[in-house]
Amino acid sequence: MKHLLASPAYKMACDQFDAVADFLNIPESLRERTKLPKRLVTVSLPVRLDSGEVKVFEGHRVQHHLTLGPTKGGLRYHPAVEIGEVAALAMWMSWKCALADLPYGGAKGGVAIDPRKFSIGELERVTRRYTSEMIPFISPQTDVMAPDMGTNEQTMAWIMDTYSHQLGHTASSIVTGKPVSIGGSLGRREATGRGVAFLANRVSDLLKLPNDSRVIVQGFGNVGSFAAIGMVKYGARLVGIGDASGGIHNVKGLDLAALQEYVARTGVVTGFPDGDKISNEELLVQPCEILIPAALDRVITAKNAGKIQCRILAEGANGPTTVEADAILRQRPEIFVIPDILCNSGGVIVSYFEWVQDLQSFFWAETEIFDKLYRILDHTLDTVIKEARKHNIDHRTAALSLGIQKVVNGKAIRGLFP
Ligand code: NAD
Repeated sequence: MKHLLASPAYKMACDQFDAVADFLNIPESLRERTKLPKRLVTVSLPVRLDSGEVKVFEGHRVQHHLTLGPTKGGLRYHPAVEIGEVAALAMWMSWKCALADLPYGGAKGGVAIDPRKFSIGELERVTRRYTSEMIPFISPQTDVMAPDMGTNEQTMAWIMDTYSHQLGHTASSIVTGKPVSIGGSLGRREATGRGVAFLANRVSDLLKLPNDSRVIVQGFGNVGSFAAIGMVKYGARLVGIGDASGGIHNVKGLDLAALQEYVARTGVVTGFPDGDKISNEELLVQPCEILIPAALDRVITAKNAGKIQCRILAEGANGPTTVEADAILRQRPEIFVIPDILCNSGGVIVSYFEWVQDLQSFFWAETEIFDKLYRILDHTLDTVIKEARKHNIDHRTAALSLGIQKVVNGKAIRGLFP
């Protein structure tokens, strides 16, 4: 699997793992076994476009480990999707699930496509073809998908429908993040962003920051929009927001309701009359108390890590901070990093609740879901902070080592077959 190392994202996930494996003194016999993905599947997806032309897309699914239960992870539609990045995201899912004590390994899938350039019918055909190619490798007990960048509840509904057709009966537990009307969980749509806001607010209290803290969010999709809404509900002031079209900034605070209405109408944040246009690069280094990258990976780099001006870096996206940037942030103790595998874990935690509800055909009230979610996030934040203090390490190393150690323990106790 050395070819995966050509991918910067995969190399970053491996470098993180190697550093933590050294810190934990993981025996050689368990290192490779824990690090390398169990299964990589790449498929080509011939799909008829509305024009009648046939276009072949490339799709991937990586299952990182099956030691603690089925694998779990999102499906991403983005033109830059490549197998190494998918493998890195699957690895991070493994540590994230283990950190939150969920009975899952990590997985991730992706199709190299820009979903904005295709019709609903074309996206449905891509999704159904992808699902049908993956059927030998997925099941509610093997691998359960969820939405990620570029996919949504509708995508999950098509996956569930395609899979159920093959099976001959409805199997709602094959995906999470589907519409509530067909077995989705209340609160799943908002869970990741609300979780990010909950944790950022908890840390803000710990640091005794003012209630009307300035917040900047990169990304106004699922995670970014609900994180922004959550922060504003906690009393914070949204001073900057960015998406693929660029950013907008207003030191006095953006009117979130008006912004939501504007984005619903235009599809982008730029052009919103109540703020100054700013590039995504500039947006990340504007002064604020809470910075939430909630779009792409590797946006906090060696170039800008010394320049960001926040007190809390709440990582809504997966892998937003490079290893080099982390080294710089370690020299800046004034910045409290809430690492991605903790910060955005609200999504997979409520996905777990959804899977459990589907398996039992017994559904819970929204208050019950958020009570349970916040209890887990609170407890995990506490555990990570204590671990970091105990060993004098940064929060990311603490979170990763707690997650990785659980997987290592599972592998050691289960032994090796044959
Ligand atoms: P989404 O597709 O709903 O939204 C993505 C947002 O990023 C959009 O606003 C888009 O315009 C913006 N964006 C795309 N390219 C950009 C660029 N070059 N510069 C700035 N912004 C850009 O995706 P999402 O589900 O909100 O996922 C965002 C991140 O959160 C990803 O890293 C994903 O892996 C992670 N994540 C998502 C979930 C979830 O439940 N959806 C859970 C955990 C982690």
